[in-house]
Amino acid sequence: MSKQYDVVVIGSGPAGYVAAIRCAQLGLKTACIEKWLNKEGKSVYGGTCLNVGCIPSKALLDTSHKFLEAQQHFQVHGIKVEGVEMDVPEMIARKDKVVTQLTQGVKGLFAANKVEGIAGTGKLVAADTVTVTDHDGKEQQLLAKHVILAAGSVPIDIPPAPVDQATIVDSTGALEFTEVPKRLGVIGAGVIGLELGSVWARLGSQVTVLEALDDFLPAVDRQIAREAQKIFAKQELDIKLGTRVTGSKLSKSGKKMVTVDFTDQEGEHQAKFDKLIVCVGRRPFSDDLIDPAVGVQLDSRGFIEVDQHCATNVPGVYAVGDIVRGPMLAHKGMEEGVMVAERLADKKTQVNYDLVPSVIYTHPEIAWVGKTEEELKAEGCEYNVGSFPFVASGRALAANDADGMVKLLADAKTDRLLGCHIIGASAADLLQQMVIAMEFSASAEDIGLTMFSHPALSEAVHEAALAVNGHAIHIGNRKRRR
Ligand code: FAD
Ligand code: NAD
Repeated sequence: MSKQYDVVVIGSGPAGYVAAIRCAQLGLKTACIEKWLNKEGKSVYGGTCLNVGCIPSKALLDTSHKFLEAQQHFQVHGIKVEGVEMDVPEMIARKDKVVTQLTQGVKGLFAANKVEGIAGTGKLVAADTVTVTDHDGKEQQLLAKHVILAAGSVPIDIPPAPVDQATIVDSTGALEFTEVPKRLGVIGAGVIGLELGSVWARLGSQVTVLEALDDFLPAVDRQIAREAQKIFAKQELDIKLGTRVTGSKLSKSGKKMVTVDFTDQEGEHQAKFDKLIVCVGRRPFSDDLIDPAVGVQLDSRGFIEVDQHCATNVPGVYAVGDIVRGPMLAHKGMEEGVMVAERLADKKTQVNYDLVPSVIYTHPEIAWVGKTEEELKAEGCEYNVGSFPFVASGRALAANDADGMVKLLADAKTDRLLGCHIIGASAADLLQQMVIAMEFSASAEDIGLTMFSHPALSEAVHEAALAVNGHAIHIGNRKRRR
């Protein structure tokens, strides 16, 4: 006989596991199906984010940052260290330990909240029926009043550089190198290219990034993107814009390496790399997830079509996270998971898609929320700009970490904050203060009238807010009204 549930969730990434836990907290009988097997062949929860995404990449970013500090930056503080060496297998083992701790954590959260975790591949075969095929091929059927599809995304492949996970790798392979590649090629100067390119550059790789677009980080405020480009150039990330990769060839003998053919304005080029990371975006993973007879609508790129509350066109079926429209970010999926769960329990929860924060975890970090100057100009909106460079922050100078700036944009008539753009140390955490402020419709004056601890990096946010209306104390005021 088929088991019956109030809710069945397919996928246990941040969108799925959060949805499942919140459903169970609200008294709904919930199961969450997950097909992921870890390196040891064990079934684990947490999806891309915990296994091969946000967490392992940050573990490597943190290790490589500490290495660079010890190797190059301690001396400025008078700390003398000699013989700093990198043990790559140890770094990877530590990263794996963090991953295990967190994936086990989700298992524990499922148990504590009475979510039934089921290992296997789920498929929606009717609006109220899901089949699960376990790792031995055995199939069972689950009946559900509501189904939440949270199957996530996978890396996009490009024909000129087919991934073999040995020499040509995707983001998952780039978390597993056993030694520092001498010459590292990266295709795509997006979030993954910059983060993982930074990891290996800090450890000593000579990194070349091949980006198809002429613009660098087109979604980022132009002033911040220009600042970032200068800083990455100082860090010796060789970012080549306007390039088209036309082919790649693996060496047939000797030490494995790859020769990449690419073109740019100047013509055709060839470059040799010991490893090549392909990170040109991700696509929704909707393959074989839904029986077409159910009638759930997908768009031409495979995203499941949903309304603003993540309901599909089929009553009782919802979809959340990377598999639906919007930025492919863990926190966006988590909020959608909570929203769907709460709406199933008759609450009126919404996601504010205008205030999804974005962060690139390079050093310095790049973080933003709301509108860029370019977007405000295109909308014909009159705005004021206030900015503050970290080089004028006492705390940033004390830490010898003073690259970058905070920039705030506020409506010229109402003073309401419309955008916050930061490049600097701890930008992600500084930005979050402005996400909260903007969620409460704060004005630049509200932030200016708020007391900030001294000395702290967040004083740069305070000063930028004061600068919006020409009242900054620790920098000259050049009021910029557009
Ligand atoms: P996923 O995390 O992809 O999870 C989907 C799950 O569904 C998977 O476990 C999959 O196995 C399972 N599944 C799929 N189909 C089935 C099926 N038929 N049956 C059973 N199970 C199924 N985002 C951030 O916000 N911050 C970051 O710092 C960040 N860093 C990243 C770094 C890297 C290297 C990568 C690759 C991504 C990063 N992301 C980051 C993006 C983030 O990982 C994703 O946005 C997030 O994981 C999406 O969550 P999800 O739950 O929608 O899907
Ligand atoms: P991305 O969309 O951020 O960047 C891909 C880049 O590759 C773009 O600049 C694009 O112009 C370029 N590109 C596309 N095709 C190309 C080609 N043929 N040749 C050269 N360049 C090409 O994608 P990503 O870096 O792969 O990351 C995937 C997703 O994962 C992103 O949507 C991102 O939101 C998410 N992610 C987030 C974080 C974070 O929040 N810190 C970190 C990693 C990944």
